[in-house]
Amino acid sequence: MSVIEDIIIEKLNVEQFLIKEHGYRMTKRRRGGTELNGHCPLPNHKDKNASFSVNKNNGRWNCFGCGKGGKNIISLIQAINGWRQDQTIEYFKNKLNIEVSEFEYVNKILKKLDDGEEVEKVEEKEFYEIYLDRPYFRPATEFLDIVTKRVDKWMIEQWNLLYVNSGHYKGRLIIPIIWDGKIISFVARDLTSRSERWQKIYAKLIKEDTPIEDIKIKQHKFGCSKVLYPEGTPINKIFFNFDEAKKQKTVFLVEGVFDCMRLVSYGYNAMAILGSRLSNFQYKEIVKNFEKVYICLDNDVKEDGRNPGQEAAQKILQNLEKFIYVKNVILPIGKDPDECTLDEFKQSLDICNKMF
Ligand SMILES: [Zn+2]
Repeated sequence: MSVIEDIIIEKLNVEQFLIKEHGYRMTKRRRGGTELNGHCPLPNHKDKNASFSVNKNNGRWNCFGCGKGGKNIISLIQAINGWRQDQTIEYFKNKLNIEVSEFEYVNKILKKLDDGEEVEKVEEKEFYEIYLDRPYFRPATEFLDIVTKRVDKWMIEQWNLLYVNSGHYKGRLIIPIIWDGKIISFVARDLTSRSERWQKIYAKLIKEDTPIEDIKIKQHKFGCSKVLYPEGTPINKIFFNFDEAKKQKTVFLVEGVFDCMRLVSYGYNAMAILGSRLSNFQYKEIVKNFEKVYICLDNDVKEDGRNPGQEAAQKILQNLEKFIYVKNVILPIGKDPDECTLDEFKQSLDICNKMF
């Protein structure tokens, strides 16, 4: 974030700004709470359910009706007015009489260095409340016939899985992500055939030479992504199941949440990197918290002969082996950990352990 953005956020009283100056009707979710609740102010969303929440301290906002959200008040005002970012910043600069003096500038930079790269934390209760309160975020146990395609009852209870039957996240399994004991975000995984249908549309768009940006817009519009995260999720600074995993010194690194839940149910200490690449932050956390790492990424050979899972695994192996004991577990061809039976996984691990 730029210095000027930092200053805007520091100076602005979100509550006063929205309620007194803008006339939005918002109420606090509970006395003394920091979340303001009201109808979504975005122009494209006719919100009947008061799906919108904004944190009065940091301006982080989310609409659980249309799925839009952002980290601060700047992105909110930008979205409401349909402005560009530079227009929005200009507006606030004038409004708050901000002049970035050299002194302020240097101080900001120093403060940034002090803070380091911290994961943005959300008050657990507040965030949990926001989505748990929505009537359409239901315990997954109420939809066993749908969700047991991918998860079993034990997993649902172990990770407090939810299922959504209306709104932006409709047809998705909700997997909370916990960090330092707090729910900081969630994975919303499609359980309908929407993402498969999208694959067909996608193939057609590619054939027609549609620009990649237009494709992304279409994908978002159709809500077709296999996995969605609420906007503002610091995806390259988190793992799934990290709190539990770091209680032990050996960890099994996997790509996705299902892989992780499957291996844990088999008795292995797994955590998911939510993708196949690691950021510097994630490398540091792994080196800091573990002594032994087993990499268990997908082993899928694509039509062009490439194997992106194993290419990624090699890269992680090379980066980690300078610091800690690390091994790459090669699963049966075409499989990811979620698709392995316990025996198949055990065998792959045995082979891996016999190699030096
Ligand atoms: Zn909305």
